[in-house]
Amino acid sequence: MFSFTSIENYHNFLANTSNGCSLAVDYYLKKNIDHKYLNAFTEIYTDECIERAKLLDAKRKNGEPLNKLHGVIIAIKDVICYKNHKVTAASAILEGFTSVYNSTAVEKLLQEDAIIIGSCNCDEFAMGSTNENSVYGNVLNALDETKVAGGSSGGSAVAVQAGLCMVSLGSDTGGSVRQPADFCGIIGLKPTYGRISRYGLIAYASSFDQIGIFGNSIDDVGLVLKVLSGADDYDSTVSDITFTLDDAPKTDKEQKKYRIAFIKNALDHSSIDPEIKKRITDLGNELTKAGHTISMIKFDLLDYLVPAYYVLTTAEASSNLSRYDGIRYGKRASVDNAELTKFYTANRTAGFGKEVKRRIMLGTFVLSAGYYDAYYSKAQQIRQLLVKKTVDIFQQYDAVIMPTVPSTAHEIGEMIKDPIKMYLADIYTVYANLTGIPAISIPLFKHSNGMPFGAQIMTNRYNEVTLLDISRMLLAQFKEH
Ligand code: GLN
Repeated sequence: MFSFTSIENYHNFLANTSNGCSLAVDYYLKKNIDHKYLNAFTEIYTDECIERAKLLDAKRKNGEPLNKLHGVIIAIKDVICYKNHKVTAASAILEGFTSVYNSTAVEKLLQEDAIIIGSCNCDEFAMGSTNENSVYGNVLNALDETKVAGGSSGGSAVAVQAGLCMVSLGSDTGGSVRQPADFCGIIGLKPTYGRISRYGLIAYASSFDQIGIFGNSIDDVGLVLKVLSGADDYDSTVSDITFTLDDAPKTDKEQKKYRIAFIKNALDHSSIDPEIKKRITDLGNELTKAGHTISMIKFDLLDYLVPAYYVLTTAEASSNLSRYDGIRYGKRASVDNAELTKFYTANRTAGFGKEVKRRIMLGTFVLSAGYYDAYYSKAQQIRQLLVKKTVDIFQQYDAVIMPTVPSTAHEIGEMIKDPIKMYLADIYTVYANLTGIPAISIPLFKHSNGMPFGAQIMTNRYNEVTLLDISRMLLAQFKEH
């Protein structure tokens, strides 16, 4: 029977198994059929996976060297363009739309011989925290099917959680990779803004969006990051600062001592579950005992994070989503002989869901002449202050540790009724997107309610090497089993 533990082990297995990729594909396709009820995928590329696996098995037979992601079975969120495949952002407005080009991320995956198994369910246009804003319906958390998977990349998270692929891609504008990773008990990385090209990633808020990676091991996530990172002629915001994996022996890396800041007022926040507070606080104490330098610092701007995030992202979204008019893309409403504005209105009314409409309206409002200075300019100023503060923090510390989410996964239907409550729960994740720093959620803890939760680690911009090293150390030494 095929089983997957890490890409490295899988590659060792392939070295001795002539039809190894085909075996793996067969295993995952069957597993996906059995787990269809989780609703993690919007489409599975069955025939082409089988074909690609055969080709890769033949490549090995011919003695060709293995590319970095040879035969690795990857799922992608339904906001990442894959040529000649449907991409809908889980929205009715893109119903039936097929990508005409590959995103740079997909191009890189294919160049390294990955097998893309399918596209994953998500919140419409990546707006949400529960995967309940999807035209395909919600995704179930495989650990407790009455609970949400998290969002917006809920399908990508459950695809890894339930073992329906080896690794997956999501997108993270305000926590959409880290939060579902936390709810599902897996690893979720949001790289530095500018690390991975956004070319071919359907835009929500362009100055925040970043493709992120879900996996079960730090090495797998690091390897996929290495493949995806790097400058791109199609996205001028990507840096040419190279990401090189740290080759030092693992045991040396685990012995390194770090200076880490914990945010006191984040842990004292009224929204935090007491058990999450306790476990993260205890982690700080244990790290001190283990010889790391831990400081409790105060972060004055904490309460401004969520408002600034929602003002700026809705503003950007209102502009980005103006392109969906039912003429150039996707679905058209059936209105006869309507005048142009009425025609647009009919298409957008029928095509967008409630949350997307809410955000377009909020964004249009904060950008309107009468309110621009009161909201948009103020939020930009807060973003500047945050960046300054962040520079100061990383002059003194290697990393910041915080919870990822104030609570564990909630019941399906519980949060969706109260959008403000849902927005406020993004308190710990949006900071990294407002400032562009890399952040990761790693599954360290189990709550007495039976659900997992993670710790969130952040480092300075372009310092994913330290981020991954600290994560590896924490998982090796502090994971509760
Ligand atoms: N929950 C956040 C929001 O609704 C995060 C979304 C994201 O990262 N794509 O905006």
